[in-house]
Amino acid sequence: TPTIGVLALQGDVREHLKALADTGAQGRPVRRAEELDAIDGLVIPGGESTTMSKLAVVFGMLEPLRAFVRAGKPVYGTCAGMIMVADKLLDAREDQETFGGIDMIVRRNAFGRQNESFEAAIDVAGIPGGPVEGVFIRAPWVESVGAEAEVLATYDGHTVAVRQGNVLATSFHPELTGDHRVHALFVDMVRHTV
Ligand code: GLN
Repeated sequence: TPTIGVLALQGDVREHLKALADTGAQGRPVRRAEELDAIDGLVIPGGESTTMSKLAVVFGMLEPLRAFVRAGKPVYGTCAGMIMVADKLLDAREDQETFGGIDMIVRRNAFGRQNESFEAAIDVAGIPGGPVEGVFIRAPWVESVGAEAEVLATYDGHTVAVRQGNVLATSFHPELTGDHRVHALFVDMVRHTV
């Protein structure tokens, strides 16, 4: 059973722990750099990426998390977590730090005010059994990806799920639904790495 951390600086940590447990993985909250040594993969939850970025700096997690990603450990970011694994951001403050991992440009709050929150059926490459229920909450989208990144899903012409090597990111929140097929995909990535 792989042990998968959920970055617990800020955001919907509990929902991810539940989703991981439902897919048969061992989830545990991670708040300190030392705890990264004991996990096989990491989930970065939804929440507020500006706050998460500041807390990562304050708690001395920024460089350890960058190193974790660079080491090829599996990482999955949802919504704010997608922002945190982007190499570049749009509509973010100049000083907003990310952990990086996917060669992509992510636009924060891209789906805009009028659609601040919505749900849509999303077909995700590599996930059999029909579309997943995509919950979008002030969600980012992926403006562009580099040659190494693979687009897994789009909505309304915008990229909303991407994978590059061991790093996976979705604009939406599968942890807020009862359908944990995206988590299962990530747990599979972790199993193949361990
Ligand atoms: N808009 C948020 C941000 O920029 C993300 C929202 C979410 O995670 N639901 O961090």
